[in-house]
Amino acid sequence: MRTKRDDRNAARTAMFDQVNAAADDAASGLDTFARERGYLRTEGNLGQWPPLAAVVDKYWATLTELHLRGEPVLCPNLSFRAPQPANWRTYTRQVCCKACGDAHSARVRGTPEDGRCDACGADAGGKLWLISFVLPAIVVDIRPWSLTSMPPVTVGVGLCDQCHAECGLTRKSAR
Ligand SMILES: [Zn+2]
Ligand SMILES: [Zn+2]
Repeated sequence: MRTKRDDRNAARTAMFDQVNAAADDAASGLDTFARERGYLRTEGNLGQWPPLAAVVDKYWATLTELHLRGEPVLCPNLSFRAPQPANWRTYTRQVCCKACGDAHSARVRGTPEDGRCDACGADAGGKLWLISFVLPAIVVDIRPWSLTSMPPVTVGVGLCDQCHAECGLTRKSAR
């Protein structure tokens, strides 16, 4: 006989399958993007690059705060129940599907803020190193609540020369 526990286990397995598929999509999307433009690609853990980790901490805290206040931090096409690859332009307060992300980008007119380093805030006069990375998906399974997941999120940030150097993401270190 199927029990509630069996159902929960099946749902969790399905959720992990979706999350893994979404993570593969996000990673291969970034790979393709890099290959097509001749960008450098490297693999590692965010903790290896403190300036990047600090950027994520900073913006993630904002997003979490909004979420706790009940603001919609996912665009209408994304769901905490059905993970799919997502994008996050850190200047927006929402994690978006591709369509909404592209619409955001199209609306950007360019402000002095765009020329600032996302890590230290220094005015780099627009001379920034553009770095994209994928935040891993998260599955939360806490009874009695329903299974929840944060999709894998592709993030793009701009770093000044100094923060970029601190990351050690030089041409030599890339594959
Ligand atoms: Zn959307
Ligand atoms: Zn900086």
